[in-house]
Amino acid sequence: MKSVVELFCDMVRIDSESGNETAFVEYASELLEEELGADCELDAYGNLIAHVRGLESDAEAVALCAHADTVKPGIGIEPVVENGVVRSAGETILAADDKAGLAEIVEGARTATRRPPVDVIVTLGEEVGLLGAKSLDIDKVRAKMAFVSDGEHLNEVIIGGPTHITLNITVTGRAAHAGMEPEKGLSAIRVAAEAITKMPEGRIDHETTANIGIIEGGMIRNGVPETCTLKAECRSLDHQKALAQSKAMREAFERAAAESGATVEIDETVAYEARAISEDAPVVQAAIAAVRSVGLEPIAKTITGGTDALILCNRGIDAVVLGTGIQGAHSTDEQITVADLETASTIVRNLLESLA
Ligand SMILES: [Zn+2]
Repeated sequence: MKSVVELFCDMVRIDSESGNETAFVEYASELLEEELGADCELDAYGNLIAHVRGLESDAEAVALCAHADTVKPGIGIEPVVENGVVRSAGETILAADDKAGLAEIVEGARTATRRPPVDVIVTLGEEVGLLGAKSLDIDKVRAKMAFVSDGEHLNEVIIGGPTHITLNITVTGRAAHAGMEPEKGLSAIRVAAEAITKMPEGRIDHETTANIGIIEGGMIRNGVPETCTLKAECRSLDHQKALAQSKAMREAFERAAAESGATVEIDETVAYEARAISEDAPVVQAAIAAVRSVGLEPIAKTITGGTDALILCNRGIDAVVLGTGIQGAHSTDEQITVADLETASTIVRNLLESLA
C-alpha cells in the first residue's frame, strides 16, 4: 500500500488546472474504487461523487469533499520530498491545494477501523468561482453533513463565510474629438471617477469589505471616452450589510450618472450568501473533537472568503472546512510537511470512527 505522501505525489503529477480536470477525476475515481470499494459516478457537470459503504456501522452517511482543480502555473508539477517537506521542483505550484485534501481523505477513510457510509465528493472549478459545488447534483449525495478538506491550519475548523456580491458596471457618456470639440462630449471615465470617490470602499466595518477591482474606459488618446466598464465586489459576514453596501455602490453610480447626463447599467449577482453554523451543531462538534483527538487545540472561525463548504451550506448540507496543512497556496512557494499530511489523515480517520 502506498503511503499518504506517495499518494499525494502521484496526484500532483496529474495536471488539473481549472477547466482541465478530466484526467485527474478519472484517476481519483479509480483510486476511490480500489482503495475504498467506492461506487463512483459523475454528475452532469462532471463532479465526482463516490459512494463508500459503511464499515461496522449503520450510522447516517457523511460527505468528505475536496476539489480537483488547481490554480496556475500547474502544468508538469514535479514534487520533491526533502527533510520532511514536499515542494515543487520547478516553477509551478505544488497543488497541495487541494490534492493534499483528497490524499488525506483517502488515507483517513482506508485506515479507519469503522466508518459511516461516506460520499466522497470531488468538485471541479473551485478556484474559478466554486463552480462545481454550485452545480453539484445534490440528489446524488446521501449525506446531510459534510467536511471539506481544503483549509490551511490543522487546528482550524471553518464554520462560516460571507455573502459575496459582484457588480459589473457600464457607464455610457458621449464621444467627441477631445481637441476639436470636447464640449460636445461626456466623459464616461470622469463620471465613473465621480461615483468611485463618493462610494464607501475598502474595509467598511469588521465584517464588510468592498472593492473596485477592474476599470477600463476609452479607446483613443484624443477622444472623449464614451464608455467605462468596472468590475466591483462587496462581501460581508452579515447578509444584510452586504446588500446595503452593494446598494450604496449602485446608488453612487446612479447619482453620478444622473447629475452628468450619462447612463449607467449595473449587473449585480449574489454569488453566495453568508452562513455560519452554530458551534453546537453536530458537524462542528465532530470536527472539533477530531482536531482535539490528535492533541491540537481547535479553533472554530468564520472567514471572508468563499468555500465549497459555504456553497454546500447554501444548498442544505451542513458543511465545515478542515485544515490540510497546505502552506503558501496559490504561489510557487507552496509546500506541505509530511507530518501534516499524516496528522490531517489521522484527523479524518478519527472523525469517521467517531461518526460510525
Ligand atoms: Zn483549495
